[in-house]
Amino acid sequence: MESKIWLSTPHMSGKEQSYINNAFETNWIAPLGPHVNGFESDIQNYLKEDSHVAALCSGTAAIHLGLILLNIGKDDEVICQSKTFSASANPIIYQGATPVFVDSEADTWNMCPEQLEIAIKDRISKGKTPKAIIAVHLYGMPYKVEAIHKIAKAYNIPVLEDSAEALGSSYKSVKCGTFGDIAILSFNGNKIITTSGGGAIVTKDLKLKEKAVFLATQAREKAVEYLHTTIGYNYRLSNVLAGIGRGQMEVLDDRVAARRRNYEFYKDSFKAIDELRFIDEPSDYFSNRWLSCMLTPSETVREGIRTALEASNIETRPLWKPMHQQPIFKDAPQYLNGVSDDLFEKGLCLPSGSNLTENELNRVTSAIKTYFRA
Ligand SMILES: *Cc1c(COP(=O)(O)O)cnc(C)c1O
Repeated sequence: MESKIWLSTPHMSGKEQSYINNAFETNWIAPLGPHVNGFESDIQNYLKEDSHVAALCSGTAAIHLGLILLNIGKDDEVICQSKTFSASANPIIYQGATPVFVDSEADTWNMCPEQLEIAIKDRISKGKTPKAIIAVHLYGMPYKVEAIHKIAKAYNIPVLEDSAEALGSSYKSVKCGTFGDIAILSFNGNKIITTSGGGAIVTKDLKLKEKAVFLATQAREKAVEYLHTTIGYNYRLSNVLAGIGRGQMEVLDDRVAARRRNYEFYKDSFKAIDELRFIDEPSDYFSNRWLSCMLTPSETVREGIRTALEASNIETRPLWKPMHQQPIFKDAPQYLNGVSDDLFEKGLCLPSGSNLTENELNRVTSAIKTYFRA
């Protein structure tokens, strides 16, 4: 059996080790220290737009704190893109609030502006104005930034931008992670860059960043004794892991370029196979192509390819199963147009790591070509 080809694995540059060594040499092994501060500045300098970044232990923690900063509490309603990973929606439940799921549109696979407005109007008519909107740049493709934010503004609802999969993506040359009232990033092991596990919250206002750090460090008031007037969390990023992040930030643009090359390679390799479709970037959109995804004609073909590749020791995965189809969210209000269900049936994510070798990429395309010839 040939070696396993994974969907997306960590890709170290070699630069991380010196930051880690420095953390050990200086004994900054705690969830604070110079690498945490340095990693935050690296991200701020990368994102620009006067962003303020707080490094945290996960993207999920960042979404949780983001909802707290937006004052989401018990029985509030929060609109969330249905087609996403469950971590976008789970923190709504942590806060005792109710998720309201909104379907996707076909150009970017992200939140459909029409469905969003239908949902907002309907929730208002039922007596509750949604308190926040969680919009996601899925697989690195920016959501319809202008349309979504225009609607959010018209109804005065803040946007929490889930940019966990989209570090390095941009819309009209402005980086993803800077559009929301609050944005979040993830540095989980499978993301475009990683700190092993980690995340960040991005704010437009220094005070809000400071509040995020305060909440992430057990909400300790400035007093000699341990004084608490707010419930806190232990969500800060370790200085050792922030060192990995600093080394990764040095090569982020290379990682984006490599993932985009994977996408072009797949698209080009399958151009003679009419059954397979790739969705290009609309103009003004720049995707980091975190995962290369393609659409097959049906669930049967999607499963046929997936199991054929599995037999060749190649990992592929259906697109995220929409949240409105998840047993945990079955009672949540939902505004659907069929797009995310259709994408889930037909879509497949291909091995997409920036560290895939030419030989590995060729193994993937040969296996798929063999499936269609058989
Ligand atoms: C990975 C991911 C998260 C969660 O990030 P973690 O760092 O794994 O907690 C949230 N939203 C989306 C869309 C993700 O892909």
